[in-house]
Amino acid sequence: QKRNPYEYEFHQAVKEILESLVPALAKHPEYMENAILERLVEPERMITFRVPWVDDQGKTRVNRGFRVQFNSAIGPYKGGIRFHPSVNASIIKFLGFEQILKNSLTGLPIGGGKGGSDFDPKGKSNGEIMRFTQSFMTELYKYLGPDVDVPAGDIGVGAREVGYMFGQYKRIRSAYEAGVLTGKGLSYGGSLVRTEATGYGVVYFVEEMLKDNGLSFEGSTVVVSGSGNVAIYAIEKATQLGAKVVACSDSNGYVYDKNGINLKTVKRLKEVERKRIKEYVAENPHAEYHEGCSGIWSIPCDIALPCATQNEINEESAELLVKNGVKAIGEGANMPSTLEAINVFLKNKVLFAPAKAANAGGVSTSALEMSQNSMRMSWTFEEVDAQLYKIMTNIYRNSLAASVEYGYPGNLVVGANIAGFIKVAEAMMAQGVV
Ligand code: NDP
Repeated sequence: QKRNPYEYEFHQAVKEILESLVPALAKHPEYMENAILERLVEPERMITFRVPWVDDQGKTRVNRGFRVQFNSAIGPYKGGIRFHPSVNASIIKFLGFEQILKNSLTGLPIGGGKGGSDFDPKGKSNGEIMRFTQSFMTELYKYLGPDVDVPAGDIGVGAREVGYMFGQYKRIRSAYEAGVLTGKGLSYGGSLVRTEATGYGVVYFVEEMLKDNGLSFEGSTVVVSGSGNVAIYAIEKATQLGAKVVACSDSNGYVYDKNGINLKTVKRLKEVERKRIKEYVAENPHAEYHEGCSGIWSIPCDIALPCATQNEINEESAELLVKNGVKAIGEGANMPSTLEAINVFLKNKVLFAPAKAANAGGVSTSALEMSQNSMRMSWTFEEVDAQLYKIMTNIYRNSLAASVEYGYPGNLVVGANIAGFIKVAEAMMAQGVV
C-alpha cells in the first residue's frame, strides 16, 4: 500500500488473489524463493500520457491516457481499453492484474495488459469520439504491435472506437497489421462471435457449474445488471437456454419486466440509438423503471449475473440476494462483487463463478481473432462459437480441479486463481529473473 498509495481497487484485486494463492505457495516454495509474487504485482511497464483534442465548440480539452503492460510471461500483452470518467491508475492496474490470470486460464498464449482514459463518451458527438480516439492512438501506437501488445474494447469502447483506433494506427504505421487490435468490424479482420463472446461465455460457464449441481438456466429467473455489450449477450444466451431474465440496468437506474426483458428494445436503445434504459418503459409499458442501480439486487432471482462494473454488489446487496433465495452468481463484469460480498456468497453456499474465469470468453475470442488474422482466414459463427463453448467449459473444469487439488473443493475463486497463476509462475521461473 505504501508503494501504491490510494490505489484501492488495485489493492482489493491483489488481496483477493494473493490470499487465495496460499495453498499453491505452500506446495511450491520455489516461487517465494524466486520472488514470483513481488514480480507479479509490479507491472512490467505503466504508460501514462496526455490526450489533447478539440471539441465541437472549438475548445481544446485534455484527458489522461493509460496503458499497463503487466505481464508478458506467456504471450503478448492483451486486454481492453476503457473510456469512462472513473478511469485512473488504480482501476487500470486492477484490471491489468486480473487480466494476467484470466488470460492464462483461457489456455491461449496471451499476457496481461489493460488501458483506457478518463474521457467520458456520454453525450459526445461522433466527430468528438473520433478526434479523441485518434489523439489517444497517436500516442499509444508506439507501444503496440501484433506480437507486442494487442488492445480490445471494454466499457465505453465498442466496434466504433476500435475502428477509429485501427484506422489511426494503420495510418501512422503505414502497415496493415490486422492483429494489432481485436473487436474489429467484420469487414476488416474482425471475428464472428466477438460481440457476443463475453455474455455468451459467462452463461456457458454458469450453465456448466449449474449442471454439476443439478440445476440449469431452464425455467430459472435471472437478474442481469448493465445493458452494455456483456449484459445484452448474457441476456440473449440465458433466454435461449430457457431462463426468464426479468431485469437489467444502466448507471442511472434499472428496469423490472416480470414478463421477461424485451431484448429487441434493449438492443435498439443501447446499440443503435445510444439512449438510457429509462426509455424501455415507453415501448414496454407494463415494465417498471426505478432510479438508482443498486436496487436491482432486491429483485428475487435464482441466478444473478452482474455485468456492469466493479464493486456493484456490496455486502448488503449480497445478503439481500441470499435472503431472496439466489442459487448462483456469474460475474460478467470485472470484480463486480466486493470482497465482503464474495464472503457472503461463499459462506451461504451460493454457487459463485468469479469474473476472472466466467468472463474470459471475450478475451478468448479476441485471441481466436488474432489467430484468424495471422492465418488470413475467417472462421464461421458456428466454428468460433463451438471453440468458445469448449474454452469456457474447460476453464470451469480446470478451476474446479484446482480447487479440489489445493484443498478447497468447489471454491472457484481459489481454483481459478491457482489454475491461472501456476502457468504464469512456471513461465516466469523458466525465463529467469526478468
Ligand atoms: P459497456 O460500456 O458496453 O456497458 C457497460 C454497462 O455498465 C452499461 O450499461 C453502463 O451503463 C453500466 N455501467 C458502467 N459503469 C457503471 C457504473 N459506474 N455504475 C453503474 N453502471 C455502470 O461495457 P461492457 O459491457 O463491455 O463491460 C461491462 C463489464 O464487463 C466491465 O466490467 C468490463 O470490464 C467487463 N468485461 C467486458 C468484456 C467485453 O468483452 N466487453 C470482457 C470482459 C469483461 P451506462 O451506459 O449508464 O454507463
